[in-house]
Amino acid sequence: MSKIILTGDRPTGRLHVGHYVGSLRRRVELQNSGEYDKIYIMIADAQALTDNFDNPEKVRQNIIEVALDYMSCGLDPAKSNLFIQSQISELTELTFYYMNLVTVSRLQHNPTVKNEIQLRNFEASIPVGFFTYPISQASDITAFKATTVPVGEDQLPMIEQAREIVRKFNTIYAPVLVEPEALIPDSEACKRLPGTDGKAKMSKSLGNCIYLSDSADEVQEKIKNMFTDPQHLRVSDPGHLEGNTVFTYLDAFCKDEHFERYLPEYANLDELKAHYTRGGLGDMKVKRFLTNVMQETLEPIRNRRKELEKDIPAVFDVLKAGTEAARETAAQTLSEVKSAMKINYFEDQELIRQQAEKYQA
Ligand code: ATP
Ligand code: MG
Repeated sequence: MSKIILTGDRPTGRLHVGHYVGSLRRRVELQNSGEYDKIYIMIADAQALTDNFDNPEKVRQNIIEVALDYMSCGLDPAKSNLFIQSQISELTELTFYYMNLVTVSRLQHNPTVKNEIQLRNFEASIPVGFFTYPISQASDITAFKATTVPVGEDQLPMIEQAREIVRKFNTIYAPVLVEPEALIPDSEACKRLPGTDGKAKMSKSLGNCIYLSDSADEVQEKIKNMFTDPQHLRVSDPGHLEGNTVFTYLDAFCKDEHFERYLPEYANLDELKAHYTRGGLGDMKVKRFLTNVMQETLEPIRNRRKELEKDIPAVFDVLKAGTEAARETAAQTLSEVKSAMKINYFEDQELIRQQAEKYQA
């Protein structure tokens, strides 16, 4: 069986380092591993509209931002198919048919949806489109017969929902769809990177992000103000690692070789952590080290972005070509889905013959 990747992001802002460690970095590795037959990377604008329907300009403006972030991280249009969700109407059509396979109570129990409804103050009145976005996500995944979906941990309930839809569809109609597997990061820090304010998740909507496109000065300033251990008042005090954002970021970003370059008095992160918890290590020193590590990671991304920004029409051309190619695949799957659901009347000569016979008898 082919190995196919589908994943994507909502164009609700520039991409941040949470996206990077949660999914983007992995995507680029998978792309370059050569182990996958097809890689589809989607800008999920239709999904972004489910909670930004009153602000279409925001979604429109952020298409290019996400595309630039993708390509500057190393997603290569020659190897990965970058496309825009809304331009593939087949995805919407699949969603309509999958809706029959999902109950309202199943959606209500989806923990991610519950959490996001709370976050957006939708409790009193949830737009139907937003409520059903897990179904639309199942369409995105299955339209490309994706086997692998590299995402952050918050997306696990979405993949489970997609798997249920696949099983139900294949049982009721015909084995057309492929059950996807989520691929989440191994490390706790990367599964759900907290915001710079120490809040549970770095998220565009919460304004607690370090963006991939932030300047070196902005990155430095954000790390300087980053949440650490509120009880660690004097350098000599023992520090706590639990909930300490600076150390969570080090977990996500730093490698042993960074110590050689920027902090040679420690061999690795474990030694640094031990000193911090013992007392005698100041937050500023740890923050300076984190700044060096992050700048080393982000600088090449920033530089590639600067290059890409010089030719914006070329980036739109990449998206257009990617969308056209993706659309062909989605159309093929939709056609198989419609045959399985027996709604392919005009292509089914056998049906026409049978009906004719019935009336001739
Ligand atoms: P929004 O606030 O508009 O929902 P977001 O910042 O949550 O934006 P999404 O576009 O919803 O970003 O998420 C895109 C991908 O990035 C998903 O796979 C998600 O799991 C992953 N991701 C987002 N934020 C984080 C994070 N803080 N840590 C790890 N992965 C993340
Ligand atoms: Mg989100």
